[in-house]
Amino acid sequence: MTGAGKNAVGVADLHVHTTASDGLFSAEEVVSLCERRGICAVAIADHDTLAGVVELVPARASEPGPAGHATSCVSSFHYRGVEIIPAVEINTELDGKEVHILGYFVPIDPGSEFAILLDTLRRFRMDRVRAMVSRLEELGLPVELERVLFFAKGESVGRPHVGQAMVEKGYVSSVKEAFERYLGTGKPAYVPRVHLTPVQAVRSIVRAGGVAVWAHPGTAGCDHLLEELVNNGLDGLECVHPQHSPEDTRRYAALAREYGLIATGGSDFHGPGSAEGGELGEWVVHYSVVTLLKEARVKRGLETAGR
Ligand code: AMP
Ligand code: FE
Ligand code: FE
Ligand code: ZN
Repeated sequence: MTGAGKNAVGVADLHVHTTASDGLFSAEEVVSLCERRGICAVAIADHDTLAGVVELVPARASEPGPAGHATSCVSSFHYRGVEIIPAVEINTELDGKEVHILGYFVPIDPGSEFAILLDTLRRFRMDRVRAMVSRLEELGLPVELERVLFFAKGESVGRPHVGQAMVEKGYVSSVKEAFERYLGTGKPAYVPRVHLTPVQAVRSIVRAGGVAVWAHPGTAGCDHLLEELVNNGLDGLECVHPQHSPEDTRRYAALAREYGLIATGGSDFHGPGSAEGGELGEWVVHYSVVTLLKEARVKRGLETAGR
């Protein structure tokens, strides 16, 4: 299921970021790249926001056809030649470990309980960035909040944008170096996030009718959590991911089989040459995985008209 590469037919990239969070390409640009690379389905999975998905929906809203639910639609839809799967990535923590949870087919309706949760998480992000900017000032490395927000472009601001402002000031030569020296966990400008636990994130996604997948579990180093997450409704494990070794991919695929979970995968693309994630289209799964995600959503009993 890994390494199908560019221009393969029938492949899906189920983990991609856009400028709505810390990706460098807009949702529209991601779609163009998918078309060029022969990716037939892509999950736009930004941190704590669905704005990248929403950006693509209005262009369709006036079109006739079953997918014209405009902004309340949570099923997938086509934008140009590419199937767009609404998704979100929630960064949670437990015992100091970062655990990321992907939610597929979550509601994009701004009035939903889930949207209100994402609003809250984004407010926490902004508070955290302000605190990091103050911390940098104390360290004699002032950056302007306006510059951080300029780099953020979209509505979900985070450490990579602080890192970009630091690069601009010449304090570090790359965002990666900014993390290594200042922004990473335990470093001088690090500020802990107000976070959900992994179980809370899974439960929120499930309650919202979405499909919950543990993102790049190999980076978290806490496989023992799996059982509890499954007991709380986890649907899948991201097996194919640039930060997974071939051995990780095999181990998580085996665990997925053992627990009856969907084995997913994606590039975690943040942009060309970005320190995070891989190249779009280099980390893909067969389209049949999209079908499994859709079936999981149906099983959850929410495949009703208008949702
Ligand atoms: P935040 O959501 O604000 O805590 O920032 C975390 C994001 O920073 C992740 O989603 C990655 O995209 C990025 N990131 C994490 N570690 C690094 C690193 N060592 N170098 C560059 N980017 C990183
Ligand atoms: Fe990121
Ligand atoms: Fe992640
Ligand atoms: Zn990601």
